Amino acid sequence: MATISLSTIEQGIDTTADTVIRNESYFSDLDGLAGDGDFGTSLATGFKVIKKDLPDLDKSDIGTMLLKISMIVSKHVGGSSGPIWGTGFMKAAMPTKGKSELTLQEFADAIGNAVDGIMARGGAKLGDKTLLDAVIPVAEKLKDHAEKGTEDLAEVLKDCATIADGAVETTRSLVAHRGRASQVGERSANTPDPGIVAIATILADWCKANSVEYTPAAPEVAKASA
Ligand SMILES: [Mg+2]
Repeated sequence: MATISLSTIEQGIDTTADTVIRNESYFSDLDGLAGDGDFGTSLATGFKVIKKDLPDLDKSDIGTMLLKISMIVSKHVGGSSGPIWGTGFMKAAMPTKGKSELTLQEFADAIGNAVDGIMARGGAKLGDKTLLDAVIPVAEKLKDHAEKGTEDLAEVLKDCATIADGAVETTRSLVAHRGRASQVGERSANTPDPGIVAIATILADWCKANSVEYTPAAPEVAKASA
């Protein structure tokens, strides 16, 4: 059975930090189209600490590592992103405590738990034009693959990247109902949500880091992952 190891997850977090740090200005520029323009800086501030501390974090098991990450995120990521991303890592840490590798089902359960936590924390749902519009369908696709017993994790990753990338387009014309962008109402229509772009870019970069061929469709994701 295909499994996901602690070091694969550690590598994924390191790649995520690179994505976020590299796009500090660009993600803030995207946020500035409809929001307050702090998204890139808020995330990058926290992920710079993660990048620096990751080699020395307690890696007794996956849950312990993720809990440490959640603490860094909660402490160092500013704005509305801190509680959202911090909750995600904290909730993913709970079912993975004591585990040094995960089956696809266990990984899907951890992501599902994170999504439920983020929904409860932020009060957003599908269609509100937040990062949940990328992560909810990704979590569902993971669950599908786990139930089918897919062995090829490259196929799973590519599917997830495609879904998140697609969410940039399907939500572009929506008016934001939650988060900072909701305060400008109509001005948020026809601008991509920076959180959705960030999730899609992270997944595109995970593909690249794992030699999975993937070409982003949304222009913002293509630019951010270049
Ligand atoms: Mg903002």
